Parts: sequence; structure tokens; C-alpha cells
Amino acid sequence: MMDKILVIDDSAVQGEFLSSILKGDYDVTVCQSAAEGLRAANEGDYSLILLDVIMPEMDGFMLLRELKSTELTRHIPVILLTSLADVQYEERGLLLGAVDYVAKPFSPVIIRARVYTHIQLYHYQSKFRQQAMVDDLTGVANRRRYEGESLAKWREAMRFSLPFSVCMFDIDKFKLYNDTFGHQAGDKVIAAVAQTVSSYFHRATDLFARYGGEEFVAVFVGNDGQSAFEFLKTVRQAVEDLHIPHNSPVCQWVTISVGGASVVPKSGDSYDTYLKLADAMLYDAKRLGRNQVVWSNAGMEPWLEK
Ligand code: GH3
Ligand code: MG
Ligand code: MG
Repeated sequence: MMDKILVIDDSAVQGEFLSSILKGDYDVTVCQSAAEGLRAANEGDYSLILLDVIMPEMDGFMLLRELKSTELTRHIPVILLTSLADVQYEERGLLLGAVDYVAKPFSPVIIRARVYTHIQLYHYQSKFRQQAMVDDLTGVANRRRYEGESLAKWREAMRFSLPFSVCMFDIDKFKLYNDTFGHQAGDKVIAAVAQTVSSYFHRATDLFARYGGEEFVAVFVGNDGQSAFEFLKTVRQAVEDLHIPHNSPVCQWVTISVGGASVVPKSGDSYDTYLKLADAMLYDAKRLGRNQVVWSNAGMEPWLEK
């Protein structure tokens, strides 16, 4: 698939010229105002932005600052388009986060070379950023990604008055498993459990992550407590159904215990309270005999699976 490039230049002639240079190799969109460009940058999936510095209304610097302060657009490399008279602005642009600039009049060869380089760098960076968010052993989101995204999901649920759920998972009697089968076999089990559970959290708004060791965490929106409880029972059963032998007096197969809580967050509520509640429910699931789900029921008796 072709990389997408966004050209933002108030001059239709310049925009057309850049587009003609690049369109053989890239999917080019041209916007003639900063406002239009900002909208496009937030909606499209661009690998690079070519930005004219001098534009009426919002200039390139303001737009650049806007792009760099927005999560969705901050990682897109921006090359500034400057004319000879704008030389004194170059430093300012670079300090604001532009990766490069090209001076008018444009040389097609130079434009292509710089664009190519920065798109390559962008791909390396994206890959690196992605790897930094993935747990090596299991391939699911790691703790860092969980810490970075969970609170944002909580706030979003609050803004849209959506039911929000958080749940904790813990593999049962796993120390014993390691003692019996060895640490390497244990690692494979952690990966298999993670794969199975994560396959149930496939909505774009779901987040399932390895919390640490043999513990996992999930946050998701849209289910009330009762339906979240039912859903997690299915997930827990799927792990049991893998029929990974545990062969211990306490459990035949590898199983998980799950604790969770659901709430429509209101301002003043804290995410941490519900995370702790989920953890308390997990503790109850362990106490009640493991291989089961316990779900908080808004201050009433929790829902018990067994
Ligand atoms: P419980 O049912 O109460 O959860 O018992 P448990 O033995 O699972 O609980 P505990 O928290 O005492 O032990 C967790 C064990 O998980 C300890 C450690 O040996 C194992 N473990 C943690 N991280 C890893 C890992 O990355 N790989 C492997 N193989 N084992 C791990
Ligand atoms: Mg544990
Ligand atoms: Mg455990």
C-alpha cells in the first residue's frame, strides 16, 4: 500500500506542483488552509506532512504546534516548506518539532529524497514504538501500554456515560505448575493463556494486557455488570477448555481466577478505586476455590460463578 502524504499549502500552484512530484510513489492529499489540513491530519493515516510556513489565518507554526500537541498526530513527521525570505524561521520550526525543511524553489529530486528518508525513519519509529508496547513473551499489550491507555479509556467512558469494566486475571496455583514442569513450560502456559484470553478482547475499544508475572488485566466499555460477568465466565471457561494438564491434587487443568467490576463513571469517581475493587474480587475468587469469576455488584453481594 502507498504511504499517504498530506500537503498543506495555501498556494494551489505549489500544492499542485508538489503533488505532481510525489504522486507516482505516494497517495497525496493537498489542503489549502491550515484548518482544513488539521482536520485531514486527524482523520487520515498520514506518514508525512509537507507544511507551508506562511499561510493566512493560522500559519504553519501554529498548525505545527497543534499537530505536536495532539496524541493522534504528534508522531507524523512534518517537513516545512520555506522560501528564501523565511530562513530566519527555520530554527523556530525545527524547535517546534519539524523534522526538516525544504526551501523554495523546490527541486523535485531533493523533495523526493527527503520525503523518502523521512518516511523510512517514520516506519522504523512506528515499529519501535509498537514493540515498546508489546509484551515479549505473550505478544499482548504490556504493562507500559496498559498504564498509558487505561486512564484515557476510563475518562472516555465518563465523557460518554458508557459502562466501563476492569478485570484482573491470575493463573491458579502457578508456582506449583513451575515446580512440577519447569519455568520454560510455565512460560509457554502464560503465552497460551494470554493468546486465548486476548482473542476474546477484539473490539477496538478493548484493552487486554499482561499486568506482570502470571497476572493479566482487561478494560472494556459497553457491558453492564451482569453482561460483563457472563462474558468473563465464557473467557474463563475457554482457558479451562485448553485442557493444559496441571496434574496437581488441587487442579487437573491450568485454570484462571477472575475478579472484576463495572461502573458508569461519574466525575469524582476514581479509576484506582475500581481497579482495587477488581483485585478484591479476584482475591475472593481465589478464596472461594479458584477457577471462577467474581464480579462486583455495586455494593450488593458480588456475583459468584460457583
Ligand atoms: P494462586 O492460585 O494463589 O494464584 O497461586 P500461585 O502459585 O499462582 O500464586 P503466586 O502469586 O504465589 O505465584 C505466582 C507464580 O507465578 C510465581 C512464579 O513462579 C510464577 N511466575 C510469575 N511470572 C512468571 C513467568 O514469567 N514465567 C513463569 N514460568 N512463571 C512465572
Ligand atoms: Mg499472582
Ligand atoms: Mg497465581
